Amino acid sequence: GRKLLMIPGPIEFEPDVLQAMSMATTSHVAPDFIEAFGNSLECMRKVWKSPAGQPFIVAGTGTLAMDMAIVNLIEPADNVLVISSGYFGKRFEDILSRYGANTTVLEAGVGEAVSLDAIEEALKTKPYKALTMTHVDTSTGVLLDPKPIAKLAKKYNVLSILDGVCSVAGEELQQDKWEIDVVLTASQKAVGVPPGLALLMVSERAMQVWENRKTPVCNYYADFSNWLPIMKAYEARKPSYFGTPAVNLVIALETSLKIICNEGIDNRIKRHQQLASAFRAAIEALHLDILPKSNKLAANTLTAVFYPKGIDGAALRSKIAQSNVIIAGGLLSDIKNSYFRIGHMGSVSANDLLAVLGALERALIELEHPVAYGKSLEVFQQELLKNS
Ligand code: PMP
Repeated sequence: GRKLLMIPGPIEFEPDVLQAMSMATTSHVAPDFIEAFGNSLECMRKVWKSPAGQPFIVAGTGTLAMDMAIVNLIEPADNVLVISSGYFGKRFEDILSRYGANTTVLEAGVGEAVSLDAIEEALKTKPYKALTMTHVDTSTGVLLDPKPIAKLAKKYNVLSILDGVCSVAGEELQQDKWEIDVVLTASQKAVGVPPGLALLMVSERAMQVWENRKTPVCNYYADFSNWLPIMKAYEARKPSYFGTPAVNLVIALETSLKIICNEGIDNRIKRHQQLASAFRAAIEALHLDILPKSNKLAANTLTAVFYPKGIDGAALRSKIAQSNVIIAGGLLSDIKNSYFRIGHMGSVSANDLLAVLGALERALIELEHPVAYGKSLEVFQQELLKNS
């Protein structure tokens, strides 16, 4: 049967987006493609709320977007503060070390976020070039508030780099107003396009820092020098070439960004918040524990949940898969086998989450973990009604 993909990326995509993927591939300098690329760049500014930002669309994954942010803005021996709330926070440390930066890592406890005091304390100790943070760490489902951190970065004259792979177009973001220098993401999450595009929005200040660097960018493909003229050309609706763009993915991106802007970015964020909060209430009604330590720290794009005691995680997930609902296991190495994750972003609807809850209840009962049949669905419906 048809499977419902409820992992935290890739997600279920809109039919129009998938149709765009299957169109006859055009030349990357065909007028229609140039228009689609230009429209996508312009639309990104609305989704990021960054009218002044420089957008980049490059074939690659979210990790390339992280790589591009670091390799273009950081030079060997620069000090960088890594603020981590899970697996993807630590990925910045790996990338930074590869390029010879001096990293200081502030790591939150599982399900927690690093405190502002700890961040300010660290920023006082030495001059940092940049700090990195993860808006939603997909490994833990922890949501960070990037506003006050970006403010601190500003106060100490430090560039702020936000991994928004699991947040952009799903969580509240105002890049310009919050003065975040780089917000990066990938296509396959809340942006709603199959995997394969790295997306970045870079502030004027950060572009200046890149222009003034003293050493060459140590990665040919990722170098802004190669891509900036291409982005500028497409936005001016002119043909250009550096590396062949992922033509069908870009058409799909234009389609999805249009869907996002038609819904309205604020409406879309609100839908994510309403569904996520009803879903958390439903999970709690089953007496299951959510990984983030407080509701304020819980993401609206995915939920990480501990398995109940005595339940074999792989068995639970496979029972749920028998209902044609696909969810994800844990990712944080120490506790990988003790929790699971459900993605609810992009075009997610109440229908999808009702299907997840129904499948979860059936699986728990089949594994002889007693839950009141229908309880989570009832609570989910009530919460939705309350917040609509
Ligand atoms: N950061 C976060 C928060 C992510 O969730 C992911 C992917 N799950 C990445 C970075 C890396 O993205 P990709 O897998 O597309 O390289």
